[in-house]
Amino acid sequence: MDEIIDRLRKVRKGAMFIIEAPSGTGKGTVIKELLKNDQNIKFSVSVTTRQPRPGEVEGVDYYFVSDEQYDEFLKQDAFYEYVDSQYGSRYGTLRSEVDSFINVGQDVLFDMDWAGARQMRQKAPDDVVTIYLLPPSIRELRRRLEGRGTDSREVIEKRMGIIMEKISHWDEFDYVIVNVSLAETVTKIQKIISGERMRRVRQVGLKGFVKELVKEAEEKQPF
Ligand code: ADP
Repeated sequence: MDEIIDRLRKVRKGAMFIIEAPSGTGKGTVIKELLKNDQNIKFSVSVTTRQPRPGEVEGVDYYFVSDEQYDEFLKQDAFYEYVDSQYGSRYGTLRSEVDSFINVGQDVLFDMDWAGARQMRQKAPDDVVTIYLLPPSIRELRRRLEGRGTDSREVIEKRMGIIMEKISHWDEFDYVIVNVSLAETVTKIQKIISGERMRRVRQVGLKGFVKELVKEAEEKQPF
């Protein structure tokens, strides 16, 4: 029996979990907690043409590539999604990186905005699950941004200024959670993840398993 359960686990297909929220809601904190508590979830590392900032590590924070390499990826349709800004830096999510995880039953977590989520959903509709986090109030959002202590007043005002535009996309997401308590939010997302893992489309080993059940039933007739 254990052998059967083990085999079923191995032939599961992973899912792509995209989490989005207005800046300051707690997305980064939630993602860190999820990764810490579940070894079966990998974080998606993006490709970028920008220069590494001090402390950033190749393959951990980003894959740093040249413009020529990025153009080559584009030509090969190698990205699930990309932001090809004409003036600024260019970013992309490599299909090969993500597929190497989901094909062996590992789930992948993305810190991605609604535009990226839209591209991902178009390219891999069966594999993408999207989660939107809302702040309990705008006043609390400001408190969190100020409390984090990483942004200047100017940056905080800029972030507050684009909140409505960000929030307007909330209803494009599969799941929506108001991030009141961090612990509760993490638990809720863990439940979403375990539910999504049980979807028939992800349990690609089921076909073989059911075939064996049918064979056993036929051989053992009458029971
Ligand atoms: P984001 O990645 O969405 O911009 P962060 O994860 O950096 O946000 O969180 C912003 C600040 O709010 C951090 O100081 C974090 O510790 C705090 N925070 C996150 N979630 C909660 C919560 N549920 N309740 C109170 N504070 C929170």
